[in-house]
Amino acid sequence: MVPELIFQAPRKGKPPLHLADLDVAGCASAVAALGLPAFRASQLAHHYYGRLIADPRQMTDLPAAVRGLVAETLFPALLTAARDVACDAGQTRKTLWRAADGATVESVLMRYPQRTTVCISSQAGCGMACPFCATGQGGLTRNLSTAEIVEQVRAAAVAARDDFGERLSNVVFMGMGEPLANYAKVVAAVRRIIAAPPSGFGISARAVTVSTVGLVPAIGKLADEGLAVTLALSLHAPDDELRDTLVPVNTRWRVREALDAARYYADVTGRRVSVEYALIRDVNDQPWRAELLGRRLRRALGRLVHVNVIPLNPTPGSAWDASPKPVEREFVKHVRAQGVSCTVRDTRGREISAACGQLAAEGG
Ligand code: SAH
Repeated sequence: MVPELIFQAPRKGKPPLHLADLDVAGCASAVAALGLPAFRASQLAHHYYGRLIADPRQMTDLPAAVRGLVAETLFPALLTAARDVACDAGQTRKTLWRAADGATVESVLMRYPQRTTVCISSQAGCGMACPFCATGQGGLTRNLSTAEIVEQVRAAAVAARDDFGERLSNVVFMGMGEPLANYAKVVAAVRRIIAAPPSGFGISARAVTVSTVGLVPAIGKLADEGLAVTLALSLHAPDDELRDTLVPVNTRWRVREALDAARYYADVTGRRVSVEYALIRDVNDQPWRAELLGRRLRRALGRLVHVNVIPLNPTPGSAWDASPKPVEREFVKHVRAQGVSCTVRDTRGREISAACGQLAAEGG
């Protein structure tokens, strides 16, 4: 990061620069550009990633005289909670965030017996236009900055710690947006999320899931980053004919190409790929499709795949609905019969419009 560029006033729609946008070297040059001694960089990072403090006024070991300058230049307010809703007896919480330019995104915090997961957004809106997804209907507003993504994680870690007495253990990019369409910002955010404190939150890479519609070249690139995060591929149909309509980007990269990319990802990272399948009544829930799905996944990925069946969360105004439970059970049975592991995903947050699509829940 060039220091001169750091302190420019933000353009409309372009979020101001924040400490969480910077890697260790960027943080060091930003601190130097402010005329502060080098050790302040790790001190600020320790406050932010280690203690989860984003307000320099609470950084009491920082000289009072520089707190204002540091606040202005490195800790601008990026996201303000506009609404907070809870359900599942307080174990699921959705926050609607408003960015400095008015763009809104959502994140959802979910507490489970063995883990606490936050589902975060990577873009305001989404350009992928999947017809069953609420976000897809509104189109793309803009990419989030790295710090806007990281801030959702920090806020969730604070809530997990203070309200649940837990450590935030998992992060899933299953909120608004297509993470791989905001590749550089998302990868930089992943690095901050998994880096050991004080330069990151220290969340295990395998506990971070990046979910994609299947942007094939970006999947290959992500594999080569050496991050070993979990990849989720939103397949939703095993055949091109149907997938062309459910996931329009399929007209650009076919099922076969998406599966080959997933295989490459699994081979390079050693990580099992999650395949997401939103089960839609009378659309993609036929036994023959389950069988075809299982067969294609077994051939492409062998044991390096797990299928998450997500009961469709109907979006307002859509004629589509979830499949009846017996149909869902049959579907799972047929996938498993092909030797592919398959489970139905827990559907948290439905009554607060936080489940998949309004916002997606977490994969198993
Ligand atoms: N763009 C990325 C990540 C965001 S969506 C992707 O598509 O993977 C996270 C998951 O929720 C995706 O698998 C998506 O297809 C699914 N989803 C979206 N709307 C849904 C709905 N109404 N019901 C069930 N799942 C939905």
